[in-house]
Amino acid sequence: MRGITALSAVAALWLASAGTGTTAPSLTVLCGVDETWCAAMKTAYEARSGLEISMTRKSTGEIFNQIRAEKAAPTVDVWWGGTGDTHLQAGSENLLEPYQPAHERDMLPWAQNFFAMSGGRSAGIYAGALGFAYNADLLRELKLPAPTCWKDLADTTYRGRIQSGNPSSSGTAFTTLATLVQLFGEDEAFRYLAALNRNIERYTTSGAAPVKAAARGETLIGISFMHDAVTQKQAGFPLVIVAPCEGTGYEIGAVSIVKGARNLAEAKRFVDFALSPEGQGTGAASGQNQVPSNANSSLPSAAPDISMIKMVDYDFATFGSPDERSRLLHRFNAEIAATN
Ligand code: PLP
Repeated sequence: MRGITALSAVAALWLASAGTGTTAPSLTVLCGVDETWCAAMKTAYEARSGLEISMTRKSTGEIFNQIRAEKAAPTVDVWWGGTGDTHLQAGSENLLEPYQPAHERDMLPWAQNFFAMSGGRSAGIYAGALGFAYNADLLRELKLPAPTCWKDLADTTYRGRIQSGNPSSSGTAFTTLATLVQLFGEDEAFRYLAALNRNIERYTTSGAAPVKAAARGETLIGISFMHDAVTQKQAGFPLVIVAPCEGTGYEIGAVSIVKGARNLAEAKRFVDFALSPEGQGTGAASGQNQVPSNANSSLPSAAPDISMIKMVDYDFATFGSPDERSRLLHRFNAEIAATN
Protein backbone atom coordinates (compact mmCIF):
# COMPACT_ATOMS: atom_id res chain seq x y z
CA MET A 1 0.00 0.00 0.00
CA ARG A 2 2.85 2.37 0.86
CA GLY A 3 4.16 1.92 -2.69
CA ILE A 4 0.79 2.87 -4.18
CA THR A 5 0.52 6.00 -2.02
CA ALA A 6 4.03 7.08 -2.97
CA LEU A 7 3.31 6.49 -6.64
CA SER A 8 0.13 8.59 -6.53
CA ALA A 9 2.01 11.43 -4.86
CA VAL A 10 4.68 11.37 -7.55
CA ALA A 11 2.02 11.30 -10.27
CA ALA A 12 0.21 14.27 -8.69
CA LEU A 13 3.46 16.24 -8.47
CA TRP A 14 4.27 15.44 -12.05
CA LEU A 15 0.86 16.57 -13.24
CA ALA A 16 1.18 19.78 -11.27
CA SER A 17 4.65 20.48 -12.65
CA ALA A 18 3.32 19.89 -16.14
CA GLY A 19 0.78 22.64 -15.48
CA THR A 20 -2.00 20.37 -16.58
CA GLY A 21 -4.44 20.79 -13.70
CA THR A 22 -6.96 18.02 -13.95
CA THR A 23 -6.92 17.63 -17.71
CA ALA A 24 -4.38 14.97 -18.60
CA PRO A 25 -2.55 15.66 -21.85
CA SER A 26 -2.34 12.64 -24.08
CA LEU A 27 0.83 11.25 -25.56
CA THR A 28 1.01 9.15 -28.70
CA VAL A 29 3.84 6.65 -28.84
CA LEU A 30 4.69 4.25 -31.65
CA CYS A 31 6.50 1.28 -30.19
CA GLY A 32 9.08 -0.75 -32.13
CA VAL A 33 9.94 -3.43 -29.56
CA ASP A 34 8.10 -6.65 -28.74
CA GLU A 35 4.36 -6.26 -28.03
CA THR A 36 4.84 -7.53 -24.46
CA TRP A 37 7.33 -4.78 -23.70
CA CYS A 38 5.15 -2.13 -25.38
CA ALA A 39 2.28 -3.09 -23.05
CA ALA A 40 4.52 -3.17 -19.94
CA MET A 41 5.97 0.25 -20.76
CA LYS A 42 2.50 1.74 -21.26
CA THR A 43 1.39 0.41 -17.87
CA ALA A 44 4.57 1.63 -16.12
CA TYR A 45 4.48 5.08 -17.70
CA GLU A 46 0.80 5.59 -17.00
CA ALA A 47 1.35 4.61 -13.34
CA ARG A 48 4.35 6.96 -13.12
CA SER A 49 2.74 9.96 -14.80
CA GLY A 50 -0.94 9.57 -14.03
CA LEU A 51 -1.66 10.07 -17.73
CA GLU A 52 -3.33 7.85 -20.26
CA ILE A 53 -1.14 7.34 -23.28
CA SER A 54 -1.64 5.73 -26.64
CA MET A 55 0.95 3.04 -27.47
CA THR A 56 0.84 1.11 -30.75
CA ARG A 57 3.29 -1.57 -31.86
CA LYS A 58 4.59 -1.41 -35.42
CA SER A 59 7.72 -2.59 -37.19
CA THR A 60 10.56 -0.12 -37.61
CA GLY A 61 10.09 0.59 -41.33
CA GLU A 62 6.34 1.01 -40.88
CA ILE A 63 6.89 3.61 -38.13
CA PHE A 64 9.41 5.47 -40.26
CA ASN A 65 7.03 5.51 -43.25
CA GLN A 66 4.16 6.81 -41.08
CA ILE A 67 6.25 9.61 -39.56
CA ARG A 68 7.52 10.58 -43.00
CA ALA A 69 3.99 10.55 -44.49
CA GLU A 70 2.67 12.72 -41.63
CA LYS A 71 5.50 15.25 -41.80
CA ALA A 72 3.18 18.20 -42.42
CA ALA A 73 0.77 17.26 -39.61
CA PRO A 74 2.32 14.75 -37.19
CA THR A 75 -0.02 12.61 -35.08
CA VAL A 76 2.83 10.80 -33.30
CA ASP A 77 4.82 12.31 -30.41
CA VAL A 78 7.43 9.65 -29.65
CA TRP A 79 9.02 6.81 -31.57
CA TRP A 80 10.22 4.38 -28.91
CA GLY A 81 12.26 1.30 -29.88
CA GLY A 82 13.28 -0.19 -33.17
CA THR A 83 16.63 -0.26 -34.86
CA GLY A 84 18.73 2.88 -34.62
CA ASP A 85 19.86 3.20 -38.22
CA THR A 86 16.27 3.91 -39.25
CA HIS A 87 15.99 6.56 -36.49
CA LEU A 88 19.20 8.07 -37.91
CA GLN A 89 17.65 8.19 -41.36
CA ALA A 90 14.61 9.98 -39.93
CA GLY A 91 16.95 12.45 -38.19
CA SER A 92 18.77 13.14 -41.45
CA GLU A 93 15.43 13.80 -43.13
CA ASN A 94 14.62 16.41 -40.47
CA LEU A 95 11.71 14.39 -39.09
CA LEU A 96 12.95 14.38 -35.47
CA GLU A 97 13.15 16.98 -32.71
CA PRO A 98 16.56 17.47 -31.01
CA TYR A 99 16.42 16.83 -27.26
CA GLN A 100 19.10 16.45 -24.57
CA PRO A 101 17.67 13.74 -22.26
CA ALA A 102 18.11 14.01 -18.49
CA HIS A 103 20.03 10.73 -18.27
CA GLU A 104 22.34 11.18 -21.25
CA ARG A 105 25.43 11.44 -19.01
CA ASP A 106 24.65 7.98 -17.55
CA MET A 107 24.64 6.31 -20.95
CA LEU A 108 27.21 3.67 -21.88
CA PRO A 109 29.79 4.84 -24.47
CA TRP A 110 28.07 3.16 -27.44
CA ALA A 111 24.85 5.01 -26.62
CA GLN A 112 26.66 8.34 -26.17
CA ASN A 113 28.30 7.84 -29.58
CA PHE A 114 24.93 7.07 -31.12
CA PHE A 115 23.40 10.21 -29.59
CA ALA A 116 26.26 12.32 -30.98
CA MET A 117 25.91 10.66 -34.40
CA SER A 118 22.22 11.55 -34.50
CA GLY A 119 23.00 15.22 -33.90
CA GLY A 120 21.15 15.02 -30.56
CA ARG A 121 17.92 13.82 -32.22
CA SER A 122 17.86 10.20 -31.10
CA ALA A 123 19.04 8.36 -27.97
CA GLY A 124 20.17 4.74 -27.69
CA ILE A 125 18.07 2.66 -25.29
CA TYR A 126 19.44 -0.88 -25.78
CA ALA A 127 21.81 -2.99 -27.85
CA GLY A 128 21.56 -6.52 -29.14
CA ALA A 129 23.31 -8.86 -31.57
CA LEU A 130 21.81 -10.41 -34.67
CA GLY A 131 21.86 -14.17 -35.21
CA PHE A 132 19.56 -17.06 -35.95
CA ALA A 133 17.92 -19.88 -34.06
CA TYR A 134 16.67 -23.31 -35.02
CA ASN A 135 14.13 -25.69 -33.54
CA ALA A 136 16.21 -28.57 -32.12
CA ASP A 137 13.30 -31.05 -32.04
CA LEU A 138 12.40 -30.41 -35.67
CA LEU A 139 16.06 -30.56 -36.76
CA ARG A 140 16.39 -34.00 -35.13
CA GLU A 141 13.12 -35.19 -36.65
CA LEU A 142 14.19 -34.06 -40.13
CA LYS A 143 17.71 -35.51 -39.60
CA LEU A 144 19.31 -32.29 -40.83
CA PRO A 145 22.74 -30.91 -39.88
CA ALA A 146 22.93 -28.04 -37.38
CA PRO A 147 23.76 -24.72 -39.09
CA THR A 148 26.51 -22.67 -37.46
CA CYS A 149 27.36 -20.04 -40.11
CA TRP A 150 25.50 -17.58 -42.35
CA LYS A 151 26.76 -19.51 -45.38
CA ASP A 152 25.20 -22.76 -44.05
CA LEU A 153 21.75 -21.18 -44.36
CA ALA A 154 22.16 -21.02 -48.15
CA ASP A 155 22.63 -24.81 -48.39
CA THR A 156 19.92 -26.60 -50.39
CA THR A 157 19.29 -28.87 -47.41
CA TYR A 158 17.26 -26.05 -45.79
CA ARG A 159 15.03 -25.44 -48.85
CA GLY A 160 11.83 -23.72 -47.71
CA ARG A 161 12.75 -24.09 -44.04
CA ILE A 162 13.90 -20.56 -43.11
CA GLN A 163 12.02 -17.37 -42.24
CA SER A 164 13.47 -13.87 -42.17
CA GLY A 165 11.94 -10.40 -41.91
CA ASN A 166 11.31 -8.16 -44.88
CA PRO A 167 13.88 -5.33 -44.65
CA SER A 168 11.40 -2.76 -46.03
CA SER A 169 9.23 -3.15 -42.92
CA SER A 170 11.51 -4.81 -40.37
CA GLY A 171 14.44 -3.07 -38.71
CA THR A 172 15.79 -6.48 -37.75
CA ALA A 173 15.86 -7.55 -41.39
CA PHE A 174 17.47 -4.30 -42.50
CA THR A 175 20.17 -4.95 -39.88
CA THR A 176 20.59 -8.41 -41.47
CA LEU A 177 20.97 -6.90 -44.93
CA ALA A 178 23.46 -4.25 -43.76
CA THR A 179 25.37 -6.85 -41.72
CA LEU A 180 25.80 -9.17 -44.71
CA VAL A 181 26.98 -6.26 -46.87
CA GLN A 182 29.54 -5.33 -44.21
CA LEU A 183 30.68 -8.94 -43.73
CA PHE A 184 30.96 -10.06 -47.34
CA GLY A 185 30.99 -6.91 -49.49
CA GLU A 186 27.86 -5.84 -51.36
CA ASP A 187 27.99 -8.01 -54.48
CA GLU A 188 28.88 -11.19 -52.61
CA ALA A 189 26.19 -10.39 -50.04
CA PHE A 190 23.59 -10.15 -52.82
CA ARG A 191 24.79 -13.43 -54.37
CA TYR A 192 24.43 -14.99 -50.92
CA LEU A 193 20.96 -13.44 -50.46
CA ALA A 194 19.87 -14.84 -53.83
CA ALA A 195 20.91 -18.34 -52.72
CA LEU A 196 19.35 -17.85 -49.28
CA ASN A 197 16.15 -16.61 -50.95
CA ARG A 198 15.58 -20.12 -52.39
CA ASN A 199 15.45 -21.42 -48.80
CA ILE A 200 13.21 -18.65 -47.47
CA GLU A 201 9.71 -19.90 -46.84
CA ARG A 202 8.48 -16.34 -46.36
CA TYR A 203 9.60 -12.84 -45.46
CA THR A 204 7.67 -11.61 -42.41
CA THR A 205 6.59 -8.04 -41.69
CA SER A 206 7.99 -8.09 -38.15
CA GLY A 207 11.55 -9.05 -37.28
CA ALA A 208 10.74 -11.18 -34.23
CA ALA A 209 8.19 -13.35 -36.11
CA PRO A 210 10.81 -15.75 -37.60
CA VAL A 211 12.16 -16.95 -34.22
CA LYS A 212 8.63 -17.11 -32.82
CA ALA A 213 7.74 -19.40 -35.76
CA ALA A 214 10.89 -21.51 -35.25
CA ALA A 215 10.13 -21.76 -31.53
CA ARG A 216 6.73 -23.29 -32.32
CA GLY A 217 8.06 -25.62 -35.02
CA GLU A 218 6.21 -23.72 -37.78
CA THR A 219 9.55 -23.30 -39.52
CA LEU A 220 13.00 -24.75 -38.84
CA ILE A 221 15.20 -21.66 -38.70
CA GLY A 222 14.45 -18.02 -37.88
CA ILE A 223 16.83 -15.13 -38.51
CA SER A 224 16.33 -12.51 -35.78
CA PHE A 225 18.04 -10.72 -32.94
CA MET A 226 19.53 -13.21 -30.50
CA HIS A 227 17.77 -11.54 -27.56
CA ASP A 228 14.39 -12.26 -29.22
CA ALA A 229 15.37 -15.93 -29.48
CA VAL A 230 16.47 -15.97 -25.81
CA THR A 231 13.00 -14.74 -24.81
CA GLN A 232 11.39 -17.63 -26.74
CA LYS A 233 13.83 -20.13 -25.23
CA GLN A 234 13.05 -18.85 -21.74
CA ALA A 235 9.39 -19.50 -22.49
CA GLY A 236 10.32 -23.19 -22.83
CA PHE A 237 10.61 -23.61 -26.61
CA PRO A 238 13.35 -25.96 -27.94
CA LEU A 239 15.48 -23.32 -29.68
CA VAL A 240 19.23 -23.43 -30.23
CA ILE A 241 20.60 -19.91 -30.67
CA VAL A 242 23.51 -19.35 -33.03
CA ALA A 243 26.05 -16.52 -33.23
CA PRO A 244 27.12 -17.06 -36.87
CA CYS A 245 30.75 -18.21 -37.32
CA GLU A 246 31.63 -15.45 -39.83
CA GLY A 247 30.65 -12.77 -37.29
CA THR A 248 27.49 -10.73 -37.04
CA GLY A 249 26.03 -7.26 -36.75
CA TYR A 250 24.14 -5.59 -33.96
CA GLU A 251 21.52 -2.95 -33.37
CA ILE A 252 21.30 0.04 -31.13
CA GLY A 253 17.59 0.44 -30.39
CA ALA A 254 16.59 4.08 -30.09
CA VAL A 255 14.01 6.59 -28.89
CA SER A 256 13.22 9.84 -30.69
CA ILE A 257 10.75 12.72 -30.48
CA VAL A 258 8.88 13.49 -33.68
CA LYS A 259 9.42 16.98 -35.07
CA GLY A 260 6.25 19.01 -34.59
CA ALA A 261 5.04 16.69 -31.78
CA ARG A 262 1.77 18.02 -30.39
CA ASN A 263 2.72 17.05 -26.82
CA LEU A 264 6.35 18.09 -26.75
CA ALA A 265 6.77 18.56 -22.99
CA GLU A 266 5.23 15.16 -22.26
CA ALA A 267 7.29 13.59 -25.04
CA LYS A 268 10.46 14.83 -23.32
CA ARG A 269 9.31 13.34 -20.01
CA PHE A 270 8.64 10.02 -21.73
CA VAL A 271 12.14 10.00 -23.25
CA ASP A 272 13.65 10.73 -19.83
CA PHE A 273 11.67 7.81 -18.41
CA ALA A 274 12.75 5.54 -21.28
CA LEU A 275 16.40 6.27 -20.47
CA SER A 276 16.04 5.92 -16.69
CA PRO A 277 16.89 2.65 -14.89
CA GLU A 278 13.20 2.42 -13.91
CA GLY A 279 12.00 2.78 -17.49
CA GLN A 280 14.66 0.43 -18.87
CA GLY A 281 13.81 -2.11 -16.15
CA THR A 282 10.40 -2.59 -17.76
CA GLY A 283 12.23 -4.58 -20.48
CA ALA A 284 13.68 -7.26 -18.20
CA ALA A 285 10.44 -7.27 -16.19
CA SER A 286 8.53 -8.22 -19.34
CA GLY A 287 10.97 -10.96 -20.35
CA GLN A 288 13.14 -8.95 -22.78
CA ASN A 289 16.87 -9.59 -23.08
CA GLN A 290 18.48 -6.58 -24.73
CA VAL A 291 21.46 -4.84 -23.11
CA PRO A 292 20.17 -1.55 -21.60
CA SER A 293 22.01 1.68 -22.41
CA ASN A 294 21.96 3.29 -18.95
CA ALA A 295 25.04 2.27 -16.94
CA ASN A 296 22.85 2.17 -13.81
CA SER A 297 20.26 -0.21 -15.33
CA SER A 298 20.44 -3.92 -14.47
CA LEU A 299 21.46 -6.31 -17.22
CA PRO A 300 18.84 -9.05 -17.79
CA SER A 301 20.50 -12.24 -16.48
CA ALA A 302 20.02 -14.13 -19.77
CA ALA A 303 21.05 -11.26 -22.10
CA PRO A 304 23.53 -12.56 -24.71
CA ASP A 305 27.04 -11.39 -23.76
CA ILE A 306 27.77 -9.18 -26.75
CA SER A 307 31.43 -8.85 -25.75
CA MET A 308 31.84 -12.61 -26.45
CA ILE A 309 30.30 -12.49 -29.95
CA LYS A 310 32.41 -11.92 -33.09
CA MET A 311 30.94 -8.62 -34.22
CA VAL A 312 31.33 -6.42 -37.30
CA ASP A 313 32.25 -2.80 -36.57
CA TYR A 314 28.73 -1.79 -37.63
CA ASP A 315 28.79 1.44 -39.60
CA PHE A 316 25.66 3.21 -38.32
CA ALA A 317 26.47 6.46 -40.10
CA THR A 318 26.56 4.79 -43.54
CA PHE A 319 23.64 2.39 -43.08
CA GLY A 320 21.54 5.04 -41.35
CA SER A 321 21.97 7.50 -44.21
CA PRO A 322 18.84 8.01 -46.34
CA ASP A 323 20.61 7.35 -49.64
CA GLU A 324 22.30 4.14 -48.60
CA ARG A 325 19.29 2.63 -46.82
CA SER A 326 16.95 3.46 -49.71
CA ARG A 327 19.44 2.19 -52.29
CA LEU A 328 19.96 -1.15 -50.51
CA LEU A 329 16.22 -1.65 -49.98
CA HIS A 330 15.57 -0.90 -53.62
CA ARG A 331 18.20 -3.42 -54.71
CA PHE A 332 16.85 -6.04 -52.28
CA ASN A 333 13.29 -5.58 -53.53
CA ALA A 334 14.30 -5.71 -57.19
CA GLU A 335 16.78 -8.58 -57.05
CA ILE A 336 15.67 -10.74 -54.13
CA ALA A 337 12.14 -10.19 -52.81
CA ALA A 338 10.66 -9.96 -56.32
CA THR A 339 11.85 -13.50 -57.06
CA ASN A 340 10.57 -15.15 -53.83
N1 PLP B 1 11.86 -6.79 -31.26
C1 PLP B 1 12.95 -6.55 -30.54
C2 PLP B 1 13.11 -7.28 -29.26
C3 PLP B 1 13.92 -5.65 -30.98
O1 PLP B 1 15.02 -5.46 -30.28
C4 PLP B 1 13.72 -4.98 -32.19
C5 PLP B 1 14.63 -3.96 -32.68
O2 PLP B 1 14.84 -2.94 -32.12
C6 PLP B 1 12.61 -5.26 -32.92
C7 PLP B 1 11.68 -6.16 -32.43
C8 PLP B 1 12.41 -4.59 -34.22
O3 PLP B 1 11.27 -5.02 -34.83
P1 PLP B 1 11.13 -5.05 -36.41
O4 PLP B 1 12.24 -5.91 -36.94
O5 PLP B 1 9.80 -5.68 -36.58
O6 PLP B 1 11.23 -3.67 -36.92
